[in-house]
Amino acid sequence: MKGGSPLRIRRYARRTLGLARFFDDPGDGRIQARIPAKTLIWAWLIGCILRECSFHAVEFLARSRAKRVLGIGRGFSDDTLAYFTERLSVDAVRRALGGLLRTVKRGKAFDDSRFIGLALDGTGVARCSKGRCEACHPVRDSDKRVIGYRHHFSMISVVGTSLSLPFDIEPYGPGDSEYAASQRLLKRAVENLGVRFADYVVGDGEYATAPFLHAAQDAGLHVVARLKANLPQLLAAATGRFAVTPPDLVFQSGRDRVEIWDYDDFEPWEALRWPRVRVMRYRQIRPDRSVCEACWLTSWSKAKVGSRALFEMAKARWEIENQGFNDAKCRYGLERMPHHHRNSLEATWLLTLMAIIIERLYRLRYLKRGNHAPLSAIALLRLLRLGLAARHQVPAPG
Ligand SMILES: [Zn+2]
Repeated sequence: MKGGSPLRIRRYARRTLGLARFFDDPGDGRIQARIPAKTLIWAWLIGCILRECSFHAVEFLARSRAKRVLGIGRGFSDDTLAYFTERLSVDAVRRALGGLLRTVKRGKAFDDSRFIGLALDGTGVARCSKGRCEACHPVRDSDKRVIGYRHHFSMISVVGTSLSLPFDIEPYGPGDSEYAASQRLLKRAVENLGVRFADYVVGDGEYATAPFLHAAQDAGLHVVARLKANLPQLLAAATGRFAVTPPDLVFQSGRDRVEIWDYDDFEPWEALRWPRVRVMRYRQIRPDRSVCEACWLTSWSKAKVGSRALFEMAKARWEIENQGFNDAKCRYGLERMPHHHRNSLEATWLLTLMAIIIERLYRLRYLKRGNHAPLSAIALLRLLRLGLAARHQVPAPG
């Protein structure tokens, strides 16, 4: 099977995904730069796609004999990338990411899904030994001694379709919180994507608060949020009722048996301006008899979204953990620290998300034609590496 080449991926990104204008003019803040911004932007993106996600590794690629087939016009040093990302406009990168997702939606990439979801969650990345910027969170041992620093952000991702596309982050420093950062992030995402881009937002119990639910609804989104002990009265009312009634729906999901309880007439808590609250509980029983169960609340009516569809929306929250944080950290280097500077980190994180989106769309939409199974991420990576190796065999000595 053909996997393409870095130059084909670049052509796909520029033409089909509409990123040409951003690549050529990405919001470069340098004055009289010697290495063009488009060289550095593409070098970082193709470096991430090849999972060479450090400034040092990208310098190596840019100085190698492979630089032409990688689409990197000129060699440069890791310091060039540091200087560039310190001054790159993060607003311009975010606008490009928003435009990219709008292009993807117009291209009908989500048309297999009835609803488009957005998931929000927070995480910590980029551990380091010295605190050097105002976003550094101290990491303490059991005796409260500072043993290092980390950086935190909330992330937002398209979920609930066959494409998980993480597209923005909002950092938060020690005096800030995931909850506040996620609210800023959701507001910005809706402004960037347009009010009718997505149908709902899904999040953990931390987001099941009246201010968050109201803000999401004001932004034109339905909400699916985990119901936990932070709403003790509603949780007690729901679990008490579910305990004495049989499930409303039972079905097989893969090898698991799923039981669902779903009522839409619970009393709202005082601060919530909804007339009634719908609460669903699922019990997912795996073949080894282990059980996973959770309660969720939602603003969706039963007429619009049935119990099974609501179960799928709740489960879509895991995409931000698995295809968002886990992939970004383990495969695309988000856990590491390319360069300890606040703007550089933010710009690099956003560009890494852009690389992830380009890779997924190229592999799962562009290469996926006909009836064959889509290429896995590791299979595409191997094909790209083999293609580079074949074109750049070092002549045998003598
Ligand atoms: Zn820092």
